[in-house]
Amino acid sequence: MTGKAHLAIGAAVGAAAAVYYSPGTLNALLFIGISAFSALCADLDGPSMLSSKLGKVSRFMREFALWGAVLFLGIVAYYFFRGESMPPVLVGSCGAAVLSGLVMKEGTLRNALVSVVGAAIIYAGYVYEMGWLMGFGLFVGWVPWLKHRGMTHTIWAIPIWGAIAWGLERQLQVSGITVVAMLGYASHLAADTLTPSGVKWLYPIMKKSFKIRL
Ligand SMILES: [Zn+2]
Repeated sequence: MTGKAHLAIGAAVGAAAAVYYSPGTLNALLFIGISAFSALCADLDGPSMLSSKLGKVSRFMREFALWGAVLFLGIVAYYFFRGESMPPVLVGSCGAAVLSGLVMKEGTLRNALVSVVGAAIIYAGYVYEMGWLMGFGLFVGWVPWLKHRGMTHTIWAIPIWGAIAWGLERQLQVSGITVVAMLGYASHLAADTLTPSGVKWLYPIMKKSFKIRL
């Protein structure tokens, strides 16, 4: 399943949740964004489209994501060394965009970059005293080194993701964020279950790969 497909499914789940919770226009967009982002993050452990042939556009996008990440880290470092604080919203949206791009990249350099972004997020969580953000940074920094479709693709990962989202929910005071994030994440696992290699939902307790043929 490609990153684009996960993004689309996640966004649809977020839109459905927005209809259900009817949180107002701005928060509806927030729901869609969080759900789509959650649906992508499960594949931070590795490229989701290793075997698929890449078109020129997607190859360009991948390179762009890589250099975008380098640029982003450069900007953060610039602010950091000048002793100025960056607007949290700017950091947050740039960070999310870079991570989304890096999901589609592969290789050691990509993993290292994702981990550097993770370390930056942990640091930001420490500075702003946001425990959930540190948890998110830990997730981001750690999972690139896991086996693809391993621990991130299990039922256990969903409540962990939910715990991170719960912190964000309390931070923003928008109820429903935790549920939306967990649904978005779960939509990724459900979608992967429809692919030939399936998902080891209960790994490591059960090594069986669950798959549904449509
Ligand atoms: Zn996946």
